[in-house]
Amino acid sequence: MNSAANEIVRTEALHHEPLRKHTSWRVGGPADLFYAPASNAELKSILAELPAATPVYWLGLGSNLLVRDGGIRGAVIATGALPRELERLDERRVRASAGLACMLLAKRCVRWQLGPAAFFAGIPGTVGGALAMNAGAFGGETWTHVDSVTMIDRRGEIRERPRAEFEIGYRTVRGPANEWFLSATFRFDHDASSSMDAIKDMLARRNAAQPLGVASCGSVFRNPDGDFAGRLIEEAGQKGRRIGGAMVSDKHANFILNIDDATAADIEALIAEVRAAVARTSGVELELEVRVIGEPAGGTT
Ligand SMILES: Cc1cc2nc3c(=O)[nH]c(=O)nc-3n(C[C@H](O)[C@H](O)[C@H](O)COP(=O)(O)OP(=O)(O)OC[C@H]3O[C@@H](n4cnc5c(N)ncnc54)[C@H](O)[C@@H]3O)c2cc1C
Repeated sequence: MNSAANEIVRTEALHHEPLRKHTSWRVGGPADLFYAPASNAELKSILAELPAATPVYWLGLGSNLLVRDGGIRGAVIATGALPRELERLDERRVRASAGLACMLLAKRCVRWQLGPAAFFAGIPGTVGGALAMNAGAFGGETWTHVDSVTMIDRRGEIRERPRAEFEIGYRTVRGPANEWFLSATFRFDHDASSSMDAIKDMLARRNAAQPLGVASCGSVFRNPDGDFAGRLIEEAGQKGRRIGGAMVSDKHANFILNIDDATAADIEALIAEVRAAVARTSGVELELEVRVIGEPAGGTT
């Protein structure tokens, strides 16, 4: 007979799952344990059962992650299989779950005439990733619109937190340690002039300026105050620079492309060279926007 705890449907953890299958750069070694829970109840039970000493890494669509070639010693929790929910709460507020694609949030909100949400169409990740990064595009930024968030902690406890409990900056979010986003309540102004055509226009402009058909992680470096990382990289003569299968884009210098089976080590080496070249040319120390995690090749146990 099943006990109440056994009624939660549990999908098996994958062992040694190659993370290159889950990142937009198409690089990354294996995760010791890889979970893709299909419900919050399953997620809670996974977190509660994982030994406290096991490091946990959260994964949305992997569009801002450089996972090293040796992979992850610990557990990866992918939000992609969680229910993708979007609910209209009232005239101006919606609640979106962490695994929902930002594009879907944008499209649905535009249909609801909540035009300021349109910028989410430019972010090829999940709502959870956008909350973690304070992702922004086309002049809009995620946390400008956050009212509150639902968080889950390392033991599987769930709580609601108001925006005021987070310190928000350009592509940075500081909040309670060891908690992750399950959902957010967003508030958008009513704007009936927004349309799917406006989204299409934004994406067409972006397509013209960025190398979108090739594996990348979007902008590698954060823009320094009052300047653009891409401009500084171009000025340092780094466009087209190549290490192994990784190359600085000719079209947009802040993109590093995986053009020919690059390894994470190729990309990391190219990042270091670009940063050194910019420091030599302009004296600016570029900071990473992408998050680098995992062990180098040979670092596996
Ligand atoms: C072609 C391209 C264009 C891009 N353009 C833009 C752009 O215009 N603006 C922009 O801001 N970004 C851009 N990005 C980067 C990226 O899409 C964003 O940073 C996005 O928010 C990452 O979402 P994700 O779901 O892929 O997160 P992931 O890459 O999977 O994770 C990113 C970080 O968020 C954390 N995270 C993910 N989910 C959760 C969760 N539920 N709770 C807590 N932490 C979590 C991860 O642990 C990790 O630290 C671009 C990327 C690409 C490939």
